[in-house]
Amino acid sequence: MKWIRVNMSDLSVKVEDVPKKYEQMGGRWLTSSIIADEVPATCHPLGPLNKVVIAPGILSGTTAPSSGRISVGTKSPLTGGIKEANAGAKFGQYLKRMGYSAIIVEGQPKNKESRYLLNISKEKVELIGADEYKFMGLYELNEKLAAKYGKDVGIACVGPAAEHLLAGTGVAFNDVENRPARYAGRGGVGAAFASKGLKAIVVEAVTGQATILNNELFETGRKKLLAALQEHAVTKPKGALNTYGTAVLVNILNEAGALPTRNFSSGTFEGAKKISGEAMAEAAAKNPQAGMMGHRCHPGCVIGCSVVYPDAQGKSHTSVEYETLWAIGANCGIDDLDAIAQMNTMCNDIGLDTIEFGDAVAVAMEGGLLPFGDAKGAIALLEEVRKGNPLGKIIGSGCSTVGKVFGVRRVPAVKNQGMPAYEPRVIKGIGVTYITTPMGADHTAGYSIAPEILGVGGKFDPHTNEGKVKLSKDFQATTCFIDSTGCCVFTAFAILDIPSGFEGMVEACNAVTGANWTTSDAYEIGLNILKTEHQFNLAAGFTANDDRPPEFMKLEPVPPHNMVWDMADSELDSIWK
Ligand code: SF4
Repeated sequence: MKWIRVNMSDLSVKVEDVPKKYEQMGGRWLTSSIIADEVPATCHPLGPLNKVVIAPGILSGTTAPSSGRISVGTKSPLTGGIKEANAGAKFGQYLKRMGYSAIIVEGQPKNKESRYLLNISKEKVELIGADEYKFMGLYELNEKLAAKYGKDVGIACVGPAAEHLLAGTGVAFNDVENRPARYAGRGGVGAAFASKGLKAIVVEAVTGQATILNNELFETGRKKLLAALQEHAVTKPKGALNTYGTAVLVNILNEAGALPTRNFSSGTFEGAKKISGEAMAEAAAKNPQAGMMGHRCHPGCVIGCSVVYPDAQGKSHTSVEYETLWAIGANCGIDDLDAIAQMNTMCNDIGLDTIEFGDAVAVAMEGGLLPFGDAKGAIALLEEVRKGNPLGKIIGSGCSTVGKVFGVRRVPAVKNQGMPAYEPRVIKGIGVTYITTPMGADHTAGYSIAPEILGVGGKFDPHTNEGKVKLSKDFQATTCFIDSTGCCVFTAFAILDIPSGFEGMVEACNAVTGANWTTSDAYEIGLNILKTEHQFNLAAGFTANDDRPPEFMKLEPVPPHNMVWDMADSELDSIWK
């Protein structure tokens, strides 16, 4: 395999052989290893010493089901620690089929006003001046790039908010219909990408299959994974995710009293039904021309959790996810589905992470900038972010910054990253994940919601602390491995309950890499990735005090269960022992 190294200081591009040490790695394993090895932990995230690594998973570009994830790794401008965020997109599949396991972007152009585009085709890899796309919204940019380079190209790009170098921004990848709707969203990876002077990377469409060393073993593994995904109630065709999207969780979490509402002041939202997956499915059924449930973010996904929501005017919005409905909806006291969908599309266009934006607006609402429920006011704030006005820059920098500016004590963040859509005072395992993951508060880092709320992969009482550190650690380690395979994290639902599915995933990886891993080895690989990331954070200056919940969660009981965060700090620290 090869990788592409792009030096933005001298504008050079090199195609290099992948050193032996990294040969079997992919996705998060590869991004976190390169960042840990090549980036000084104490460097400024927006400076020339930081790097941005983009890596498809081990199985990306093959016919393994739901395996088209692409990881973006860097030192995070939001947390100051190591970061990996991933998205499902054809971009990574093409890259892998072309024989590239990563793109490493380093340095910084002398002229900070210049913009560049990296064009990757089968014939050559070249950096091209791209000043004409400066501060362009991503829907327009993707249209222009598809018109110039071909309608099926893969695109990675950053919006105006990232060009303003705001820490609440992500990297957008185009979906099958060329919409910039698939986000490596969290941790400010968009700002790190933009700080390199890059506006976009375009990769030529490539059909076929990435290199596989053992076709027979690959087929055996692929079929086992596919069978598990097609059998499990959550992932199967017409299953929960395929029918209602991730938004199937809105009503479930509301009923559990764990849907954070109005800046984490309550666990239930009276408007939940209006912003639920069921409500979106009803709208999509009424307008199938503009709406669609079961959309797939990349070719080869067999789960299809993505939603194209049609608003009352018949405009399509892709993809309206649970986290977005919660962040901009319940957490801001907004129950207008059309307004949330509009803001979702605006965030995609501007380049903002919808979770961080929703957390930031909710904190601003608590700080008195606008009232809870004010959808029009929130939309106006997005326009401020697009323009890069001072207020927009504050909002686009995330909820921790907003909390400081507006003197708000109730800021739901860990390591400066805003919490996602699950109340940790009520669901303790996900709380351990938010608090201890090297990523900053992140549900995907160790999704213990599966056994704590959904009864998948075992059953745990969400309200108790017992066993939750081990539960979170096991989920975090396994997730590190899954994030390295290129498989969507939602495959975890099936492989947790159907062991042959996990065996199949590991066998398919062995077939691609020539390794001989067992499922236990996969866990150990995941644990080592986690330790590498933790070590980077320690070298960056983090201490055990960064693995702590926000103070208000220990002091303020959250209704309706009236629970506080009551796990001892020493118990949290035991995760690293
Ligand atoms: S399950 Fe959803 S997020 Fe995962 S790969 Fe498929 S469409 Fe994308």
